[in-house]
Order: sequence, then C-alpha cells, then structure tokens
Amino acid sequence: MTTTPQTMGQQFGRRSWAEPWKIKMVEPLTMTDRAGRERAAQEAGYNTFLLKSDDVYIDLLTDSGTNAMSDRQWAGMMLGDEAYAGSRNFYHLEEAIQTVYGYKHIVPTHQGRGAEHLISQAAIKKGQYVPGNMYFTTTRLHQEMAGGIFVDVIIDEAHDAQNLHPFKGNVDLDKVAALIEREGAANIAYISLAGTVNMAGGQPMSMANVKALRALCDQHGIKIYLDATRMMENAFFIQEREAGYADKTIAQILKEFCSYTDGAWMSAKKDNLVNIGGWLAVNDQDLFEELRNMVVIFEGLHTYGGLAGRDMEAIAIGIFEGVQDAHIRSRIGQVRYLGELLTDWGIPIVQPVGGHAIFLDARRFYPHLPQSVFPAQTLAAELYLDSGIRSMERGVVSAGRDPHTGEHYYPKLELTRLTIPRRVYTQAHMDVVAEAVKTVFDQRDATRGLKMVYEPKYLRFFQARFERL
Ligand SMILES: *Cc1c(COP(=O)(O)O)cnc(C)c1O
Repeated sequence: MTTTPQTMGQQFGRRSWAEPWKIKMVEPLTMTDRAGRERAAQEAGYNTFLLKSDDVYIDLLTDSGTNAMSDRQWAGMMLGDEAYAGSRNFYHLEEAIQTVYGYKHIVPTHQGRGAEHLISQAAIKKGQYVPGNMYFTTTRLHQEMAGGIFVDVIIDEAHDAQNLHPFKGNVDLDKVAALIEREGAANIAYISLAGTVNMAGGQPMSMANVKALRALCDQHGIKIYLDATRMMENAFFIQEREAGYADKTIAQILKEFCSYTDGAWMSAKKDNLVNIGGWLAVNDQDLFEELRNMVVIFEGLHTYGGLAGRDMEAIAIGIFEGVQDAHIRSRIGQVRYLGELLTDWGIPIVQPVGGHAIFLDARRFYPHLPQSVFPAQTLAAELYLDSGIRSMERGVVSAGRDPHTGEHYYPKLELTRLTIPRRVYTQAHMDVVAEAVKTVFDQRDATRGLKMVYEPKYLRFFQARFERL
C-alpha cells in the first residue's frame, strides 16, 4: 500500500521520514504569476534549459550541485587552507574518502567529468571495450575520446519503464561473459559500473550482483571501476531490499560494495552534498602514480586538483553527513513521497521510484501526441506554465538525430524528469509539485505538442527552441 496524506492517518504505528535537520537560513523564492510565466516561457523557446533561474519557482532541473550545505560545511569553508601545495583540507578529504569508501589513493578533481577524463585516459587503450550498466553522457564521451568502445551490459529489464525489478541497475553477467568470450579479456579496458543508474531512472545494483561480477572479473583479470556519484543512495536500496542487509548501516553497505571494485570516480555535486567538486580513488599504486601525474596537466596540483582548499573541506564534511542513515532515509523518503502521490492519482511514472528523481512517462501521459511533437518537452513546458516548476526533457529531443539518415532518434523512453535537490525543498513543495502535475494531467486532452523552430547541431536539448502548436 502506498502512503498519501489521505491514507497516512489511518495507518497505526506509522513512522515518517522527517528531515534530520532544521532550517537556520532561508533563500527567498521567486513567486511567479501566469502572465510572467507565459512571457518567460516564450522568451525561452519553451525549453526549460533556457529559462532564467529568477523566473523559476521550484527548480527540479537537476540534483547536481544544487544541494544545501550544512552549518558544519559552511564553517568548514572558513577553515580553508589555500596553500598551493599540501593544503590541510586535502588531507581531511583523503581521510574521509579512505574511511567512508575504503579506497587507498585519492586524486581531487574540479568535478566528476575531470575524474572521468583522467581514469579514461589512464586505463583505456585505443580500441578496447568498456562494458557498463547503461551509460552516462559525460562518462561515455570520455571513454570514447580515450578510444574506448562502450558496450551496454545492463539487464534488459532496465529498458522497460514499467518493469518492477528491485535492482534494475544490475549487470547482466551473461552479456559480460559473452563479450569476454568474443573479444578476449585483454581487449576489455575495465568494467564501468554505476551505483544507481541515472539514465534508467535512478535504479540500483544489488550486492549479490557486484559480488558475482567481481568473481567473474577475477577469473579473467579484469578491473572494475565504479561511478560512485549516487552510490550512497544505492546502499539504501540494498539495505531495504536485499536479504542480509536490513541490519547493516548505509556506511557498512557502501564500504562493502566499494570493496568489490578497484577504484571509483565521483561527482561530489551529488551524494557528497556540495555545490562543486569531484574526486578519483584507486587501490593500485602504479595507476595512482600515473593519475597523480596527469592531474597536474588537466586540473591542478595533486593536492587540490582544481578545487579551493575550502571546497575540499566542505566535501570532506559532506561525505560524513551524506552517509548517515537518517539523511538518506529522508532524502529518498522525499522523492518517494512525491512518487506515491502521483501514483495514487493515476499519473504514469517510471516504476519503481529511484533515488533522486521522479520520471514522468510522457508517452502514457499524452497518448494522443506522437513523438514527433515532443511529448516530454511539451510536458516540461506545460508544467512550467502552470506553476513555475522547472523539469527536464529526457526523450526525443535529448536523443538527437541519426547522423547518417538525419532522422530523429525515437528512444523507447520518452520522459520528463523531476529531480529533487538534497536538503533544499520541503514536503509542502512536493505537494505543490504533485498538484501541478495533476492539473497538467487533467488538461492533457486539450494539450497539443510543440514544433522545433531552432535546432543546434550538438546536444540540441540544451539550446533548441520551440513554438506551441
Ligand atoms: C553528474 C554525473 C557525472 C558527471 O559529473 P560532473 O560533476 O557533472 O562533471 C558522472 N556520472 C554521473 C552518474 C553523474 O550523475
């Protein structure tokens, strides 16, 4: 049974996920009106990426770098040691990663993609395969730029928005074994693993799956590197859904999971609760020497990697705050609360609800709109017009065009993403969001699609412009 304000009061012995913090400082929001939103939407060509933040009321574009820091983190910022070399904050960060994630050697980077660049350049030889549990945009691009060939080895269930598999982020071991058989272990650079798979809707991997993958890789001498960006959220799903983990803490589960991998890269802008930063961590001494040498070229000296000392301090503190059970329970509890309201109101979303976002299924939301009039983009525009809520298209616009035929790629998933920043909005904001989605849903039959009137050549979703039909 799902929980809504209507059913909650009837359940005996209920326990809520309330936030393990209280509010000390507030940031006023822009209260928008319909006339202002119509003007702003038109100026932005009905593309939420082109809206000014000042014209947005509730911003659910992304959970990247949009976290609220704690008073401890802000206090840590004042303790920044801005020495060029050997900043004390670097040693705090190193210790935090070693303690919480368990890796031996650490290289700081300016954000996640800086770390992806370094590991891809150091660990991929031109022409080698890089199997992964689905892909992430920047991750795959860096692997390809290093000469790697990405191969999707996620289980088939991940591509089905309605499949209720509890671990839709799992690797299909048969697909990996077949690749090893066909291409040979020496032609595989490493396995590129992601904890909670963003592109599949924030879906987790199980501990049993990573353990079995480790055993398979050990037989063939293949390394496993982890995109740990949302691995703390992944640990929550293991605690909740996997036998034998209910009594373990998020911290214990995270560390065990990481122990089956050889290293990780991180966008600290997500799980580590800061606004900017990233890092890379590996166990192999020789690889570390190489990475530590390369970071000097691309990011900065190996004890700051493109970050100010104060930023490293905030990450170090954020790592310890982010791994607390009470924090993750309320973070995912809030995402779920929104998902359950929408589900109870019959609004089609990707199930099961993942860790960081709700994905509205625009195909089922607007069954009368063909993909050629951009249903997910239309839904994002309508939501903004209704109430100033900013979401993101993940459908045909994001998929782009086939470079050979010039036709749109028509992806199976046509989604509008509502991404929840950590520790930023309240349950009342989630009510407002759910009610706005419901209003747009109730008006769905009257909704026409959009026409693309400007299309940039690269990553068109960022800058494309539309008109309402
Ligand atoms: C955000 C993200 C990245 C890239 O990190 P940046 O800090 O944005 O450079 C890599 N992988 C995943 C899964 C992400 O969500």
